[in-house]
Amino acid sequence: MAKEFTFDVAFVLDYLGVAHPGRGFGDAAYIDCPVCHGKRKMQVVYSKNLVRCNKCGAGGGMLALAKEMLGVESRSEAARILGAAQGSTSFRCVPQPSEDPRKYQGWEAQYKAKTLSVEVRDHTYTHYLHYLTLSDDHFQQLTKVRGLTPPQIEAFGFKSVPMMGKRTIPEALQDEGCRLLGVPLFYQKDGCVLANLGQGKGFYIPVRDLGGRILGLQIRLDEGKTRYIWVTSWSDRYLMKAGSNLAGIPKFHHVGFAEARKAGTVPVFGLTEGPLKADICTSLGYPYPMIALCGLSNQLGLYEELKRLRDEYGLKTVQDFTDMDKFALPRPGEKNYVKEHCDTICRKIRELGLRIERYSWDQRYKGFDDFLLALKRGNADEKSLQVWQR
Ligand SMILES: [Zn+2]
Repeated sequence: MAKEFTFDVAFVLDYLGVAHPGRGFGDAAYIDCPVCHGKRKMQVVYSKNLVRCNKCGAGGGMLALAKEMLGVESRSEAARILGAAQGSTSFRCVPQPSEDPRKYQGWEAQYKAKTLSVEVRDHTYTHYLHYLTLSDDHFQQLTKVRGLTPPQIEAFGFKSVPMMGKRTIPEALQDEGCRLLGVPLFYQKDGCVLANLGQGKGFYIPVRDLGGRILGLQIRLDEGKTRYIWVTSWSDRYLMKAGSNLAGIPKFHHVGFAEARKAGTVPVFGLTEGPLKADICTSLGYPYPMIALCGLSNQLGLYEELKRLRDEYGLKTVQDFTDMDKFALPRPGEKNYVKEHCDTICRKIRELGLRIERYSWDQRYKGFDDFLLALKRGNADEKSLQVWQR
């Protein structure tokens, strides 16, 4: 009968700084041998805590490998060291030379693109956001400029991108049992799991599915031409470079569906562009749930979801609140792409047998959120809100 340990082979490999794919990608994998450096010569079987090199014979059980690599007398001594390390938060990180990630194929390439399920992502992101705070500047911006209340800010989960904690936050999350690799934001480098906090200063916007679960995080950047970016992972080895993990990028954001569904059907919802805008519109009094596209050209999966909403949620009408730039006259010889994308979306909605109501409003306000805020502050007239096309 094998002795029971509180740690497993994944922990041992992490501790030793040996890169491996983790359990999420199949029970067995071939990895580079840390002893003879044979490429994909070492087999790891997660369920059996086995790890062995087919070329040099290193390893066997996880403790045999640890004994060899740590240079200690016995396997029990290796077990003692590993057991003690479990309670501490500092992993030993073995520096490895940087390599071009494009070189990697097979499970490494698969690993690069694979993103964990919504359930896992929601769990990890929820815990991650609990560690963070919202800076005073961001709080003022969301309340004074955008018109949100503190309870609304709390409910949506906006938090400032932290300046520190790249290593300590992932360690704390792992202690709480969160899975990190395969969740955009986290990556592995030299055997350590780190958080990618270097994408810029700003605040996180949780992007949610129909059930309110967090699909991914957007950052609203404090400065720069592009204001909204996706949180991604990157690494010098294995994982995704910024922007390359498309599988982890959610298609659109949902507000208010879970609550409306509890109360019955969802006959109407509003369509807009940009997650933060949808959060603000529903907070400023728009009475129906909202779907926010993350870029008008990104319509992948929208029609499947509309069908589902029609068949399971009793959806009948979609109200179009996309930005007023669709009315801007294009320069001679150019096209108005915003209008083109909006027209395509509306045509497809009609094809599904749903009604579409397209709204326009006081054109001093580009976004529907800006208009609702102006209305609330007495700077716009409700009568300017009209259906211009059905
Ligand atoms: Zn070997």
